[in-house]
Amino acid sequence: MMKYTAALLYGPHDIRLEEMEMPPVQPGEVLIRMRAATLCPTDVKKYRGINPKVADALKTHGPYVLGHEGGGDVVETGHDVTTVKPGDRVAVQPIISCGECYYCQHDMPNLCPQMLGIGAAAGDFGECVKLYHKRGIGGCFAEYLKAPESCVIKVPKDLDYEAASMIEPVSDVVHSVSLANTGAPLRKRVVVTGLGPMGVTHVMVAKAFGAESVIGLDPIQERRNLAMDLGANVVIDPSQDNPVDRVLESTEGTGADIVFVTAGGKAQVRCVTEAIDMVRKGGAVVLFASSAGDSSLCLDHNVLHYKMVQVIGVVGFRSQDAEKTINLMKNAQINLDAVRGPVLPLSDAEKGFSIYGSPGVMKVGLDIN
Ligand SMILES: [Zn+2]
Ligand SMILES: [Zn+2]
Repeated sequence: MMKYTAALLYGPHDIRLEEMEMPPVQPGEVLIRMRAATLCPTDVKKYRGINPKVADALKTHGPYVLGHEGGGDVVETGHDVTTVKPGDRVAVQPIISCGECYYCQHDMPNLCPQMLGIGAAAGDFGECVKLYHKRGIGGCFAEYLKAPESCVIKVPKDLDYEAASMIEPVSDVVHSVSLANTGAPLRKRVVVTGLGPMGVTHVMVAKAFGAESVIGLDPIQERRNLAMDLGANVVIDPSQDNPVDRVLESTEGTGADIVFVTAGGKAQVRCVTEAIDMVRKGGAVVLFASSAGDSSLCLDHNVLHYKMVQVIGVVGFRSQDAEKTINLMKNAQINLDAVRGPVLPLSDAEKGFSIYGSPGVMKVGLDIN
């Protein structure tokens, strides 16, 4: 029986590298030799045990392989698989949807109520762990990943594995910018609140999609500098300056066409409130980041009504977003190295989790040899 190495999460702050037996490939499934993976905040939150349900599920059902941002090569397919074949380079599409509900039937699998996720990227964590122990479908932080055919995206060979591992997060941003970048007049003046990995990716994608000016907001100087390097026109330190005043000043008092809120954590509610104040009449505020938990927004009905502000929530991506992402990457319109570092070997996965979010660290990449 062939064996492979996987980074297994046993509980909070407890990842162990273990030799696993190769799962048999069933009809409708694809076996991928992983070559690169990238950490996502959703992985890190589970590692840090922020939600006690995660530790409970691991105790009840057994350990689990996290990771849903990955690139590799197909090595085996179920007999009825038609979209990929052994030797194809692929990226992971992490949503495992039911294929039958209203949303799946209407091209919105990212909203499927039954959904589960590769690496528990979506759906109930306990159910994802059960799926792993029942069918061997886990996550990307391993030498091999078995996934349903619908969870692989074929990528051209001129994209490297590292880029392939970034297709999922960048496609989320492409989805966000595509939804908001409409309206008449076309929305061209953009604010990005929070300049972490997904914030600076918004800067790059907005520019690639024709934004005239991008204003970035973040209290961390290093992140503001990076945003400027990646194409932002103005950056503001919201801990020093009133961000609403500064955005209004920068837009002749009109306000921004779109404000993307990518900031998480404690600042989030304030960021959304400020976003509604700094967006122009008829503009859009996009809620990109998930909240840490039970945070409720209190919005002024009349401000939304009289300003005709659109508040748009966005999660996941559609197949057309992945296509656009692959094109942006092929044309080198996204500086992936600026977002993905540092890069560690799979054997240092636990270190990757522990340094995530510290100064100078954006998204941590894992090389899988
Ligand atoms: Zn992700
Ligand atoms: Zn469904």
